[in-house]
Amino acid sequence: MKDCEYRQIPPGVAGPAPGTVVSSPPLSTGPERAGPARRPRRKWEVFPGRNRFYCGGRLMLARHSGVFALTLGLILATSGLFFAFDCPFLASHLTLAIPIIAAILFFFVISCLLQTSFRDPGILPRATPSEAADLEKRIDSMGTSTYRPPARTMEVVINKYVVKLKYCYTCKMFRPPRTSHCSVCDNCVERFDHHCPWVGNCVGKRNYRYFYAFILSLSFLTAFIFACVVTHLTLRSQRDGFLATLKTTPASVLELVICFFSVWSILGLSGFHTYLVASNLTTNEDIKGSWSNKRGSEFANPYSHKSILTNCCAVLCGPFHPSLIDRRGFIQPDVGTPASPKSEIPSFGAKTDTSMEDACQDFAISCTA
Ligand SMILES: [Zn+2]
Ligand SMILES: [Zn+2]
Repeated sequence: MKDCEYRQIPPGVAGPAPGTVVSSPPLSTGPERAGPARRPRRKWEVFPGRNRFYCGGRLMLARHSGVFALTLGLILATSGLFFAFDCPFLASHLTLAIPIIAAILFFFVISCLLQTSFRDPGILPRATPSEAADLEKRIDSMGTSTYRPPARTMEVVINKYVVKLKYCYTCKMFRPPRTSHCSVCDNCVERFDHHCPWVGNCVGKRNYRYFYAFILSLSFLTAFIFACVVTHLTLRSQRDGFLATLKTTPASVLELVICFFSVWSILGLSGFHTYLVASNLTTNEDIKGSWSNKRGSEFANPYSHKSILTNCCAVLCGPFHPSLIDRRGFIQPDVGTPASPKSEIPSFGAKTDTSMEDACQDFAISCTA
């Protein structure tokens, strides 16, 4: 009766989707189930990637987000202990500025974390079946008559450098420059940096600036708490003695341990991403060595503006890009026209070869301009 195997749901299909529904609420509003007045479904309910959606599709997260809860818990617990056990002493003995600065940093860190985690990182919608078939036909017509075509790649020129675009067999399209398929979330993500389990999401074109602000502000917050707790313990031990201080303030000792062991990795990560931002690179490109040691020193990063300041502005202060997956949009009833793949969702898979190149050039210009 029910088939439980996975299959991709065409966005045009209005019927139930057994294998891919993420968390659709029950539809038991009336006795007639297949009646004409059926609740229209939204695109997030049949989204093919491995994501969870909340608040009617407004928020999204990777399917396995346990480590994200750990991150949030650690920040909340450490900051909570600091505000409860250290701030009263420091405010009365030193200055009221300490809890104020800590509160500002804390709210900034939390808001950046939530923006990184619940935002669409820049997912590209998969090609619809008709778009995929259209592209498939074009590729077949271009290839030779051998029974297995060679690796599907396409070359575009960006800032005088030739960049190879790979075909994504899951999303059924040529990936635009800097796009990569996240194996955890099963989506192609634009300007893919990496999948970060600590924030429970991919880090890509639409949430990188929040991710960077998160790790940078978190390193400030951790170092600030660490310094303040050391000051607190020093002042107390001068008054009460070292052992008595340790006994009376176990929460501060716990904060000290957590901050000491986490601050080094957070500082290291902030430094690494500062280098990436300054050179307009992604973690993915840096790990793969995409622009180095391949063709000698002449082969440089085509997206770099050759200036640290311009690179920082381009990465962190560029325009905000709208989400392309339209997860709150309603699924349109299927009109069954395989020859008219004009979807509302922009898709590289549907484009012809020349327009594909134009689109990639536009994309590259938007990346570098
Ligand atoms: Zn893909
Ligand atoms: Zn991911």
